[in-house]
Amino acid sequence: MSERIMLIPAGCILTMDAVGTALQDHTIVSKDGKIAAILPTAEARAAYPTAEVFDASEKVVIPGLVNVHMHSNLVRGFGDNMALYAWHEAIAETVGMETRPEEMQMGALISYLEAIKSGTTTMLSMEKYSAYCYEAAVQSGGRVRIVPYVLDFDDCVDKVELNLEYVEKTLDPALRTRFIFGFDSFREAGPDLIRQVGALSEKYNILMQTHSAESVDDVKLCLEKFGCEPVKYLYDLGVLNERMILAHGVHLTQEEKDLVEKVGARIAHCPTSNMKLSDGAAPVREYLDRGIRLGIGTDGANSNNNYDMFEEMKFAALLPRIATKKADDLTAEQTLRLATIEGARVLGLDQEVGSIEVGKKTDLCILDMRSLHCLPFNMAEPGILMSHIVYSCSGADVDSVLVDGEVLVKNHTLTRFDEANLFRAANVMACDLTARLKARGVRM
Ligand SMILES: [Zn+2]
Repeated sequence: MSERIMLIPAGCILTMDAVGTALQDHTIVSKDGKIAAILPTAEARAAYPTAEVFDASEKVVIPGLVNVHMHSNLVRGFGDNMALYAWHEAIAETVGMETRPEEMQMGALISYLEAIKSGTTTMLSMEKYSAYCYEAAVQSGGRVRIVPYVLDFDDCVDKVELNLEYVEKTLDPALRTRFIFGFDSFREAGPDLIRQVGALSEKYNILMQTHSAESVDDVKLCLEKFGCEPVKYLYDLGVLNERMILAHGVHLTQEEKDLVEKVGARIAHCPTSNMKLSDGAAPVREYLDRGIRLGIGTDGANSNNNYDMFEEMKFAALLPRIATKKADDLTAEQTLRLATIEGARVLGLDQEVGSIEVGKKTDLCILDMRSLHCLPFNMAEPGILMSHIVYSCSGADVDSVLVDGEVLVKNHTLTRFDEANLFRAANVMACDLTARLKARGVRM
C-alpha cells in the first residue's frame, strides 16, 4: 500500500517542543497520519512535488489542544447561579436521571464536535451511558478517552463491569477512542468500589480519574464521613498513585499536596467551572513548582458552559492571580503548554501528541489570526502570537483541525457532518429534554 503523504505549509508553527521552537515558512510533512519531517517550505515542495498540499501558509499552526476533564451535555443554560453541591443535586443529577441513552449519545456527539471545531483534538470525558458515548466518540473522529460515571447505586448504568468490558475492548493503542478507569467521587462510590477500580487500574496499567477536593463543602463532607480530607482518603484507600488523575484538586492540605507530589498523581485543572460553581482557585503555581503533572479541562457544559479551550486557557492564566496577587504566575507560553504538551503528559500521551515533532501524530490546530483582535499579526513574533492565542483568541479563530492527519475541520466547517442538519436534529432532542426537565421542576 502506498504511503499517504500530505504537506502542510505553515506561516508559523508553534511546536511546543521542549525548547519552545517556533518556525516560520516551514512545512509539516505528514505520512500516514504521523509527522515525518518539518522542513523549510521550498525544500519540502522540492522533495515531495506530487504530494497533496493542505495550505496553512497564512496561518498559525499549534498542536491540537488537550482537554483533560469534561462531560458531554445535550442541554445547558440553567443552574447558572448555584454552588457545587446545590448545583449537583438540582442540575447535574436531575439532567443525568432524565437523559435517555440516545439523547446522551447525541449530547456526546455534539460535545465532542464542539470541542474539535474549537481546536481540541484530544479529550478525556467522564460519561453516563458511556457505551453510547463511545459510539459518538468514534463517529466524531476525535481522540477521546472515556471514563464512565461509575457509582455505587443499584440503578447505575455504568457499572465497573462495563468499565472493564470497554477497557478490554479498546486496549489497542492505535484506537483513537479508548476507555480508562474511574469513578465519580467519594460521595457516590463506596470504599470497596474505589478499591476495586484502583486494583483494575493497576492490573491493566491504565489511568483512572475521579473528582476530588473540588470545593470547601467537598472537604467538609469527607471529613464528616471518613474523618479525613478527600485526597488523603484516596491515599488511605491505596488509589492515590501515578495512575490517578484528580479532577479539580482545588482545596488540598499541605499533607495532601505532599502526597500528590510523592506518588506522582496528576491534576485536571478546570478554572471556569471552579469559578462558576464558586469553588475557589486551585494553587496551580504551587503544583507546577512541585513538578506535579497538570493539564487544563473545561468540565461539562452544564458548569462552563462550553468546551472552548481558548477561553479555558485565558481563565487558567488569570485565575491564580486573584489568589496569589502575582501577575507572573503563569505566562502565555506556560499556559499554552498546559493546554498542549502538559495535558498530553497528564493523559500519558506525550510521546504521541501534544507537540509538533517528528514521529508524533499529525494532530494539529490551525488558526486564522488575520482578525482585528489579533493585531499586530506577525509570523516572526511568536511571543505576541502566543499572547494572542491565550488572551485574544477564541475557538472561533480555529480554521482547521487534523487528527491522525485526517482533516476533521476545514475552513471552520466540520468535514464528517452536515452541521446545519446536525444542529436541527440535536435541537429537537435538546428542546424535548428541556421540557421534561422543566416538568420535573428544574428552574430555567
Ligand atoms: Zn467534572
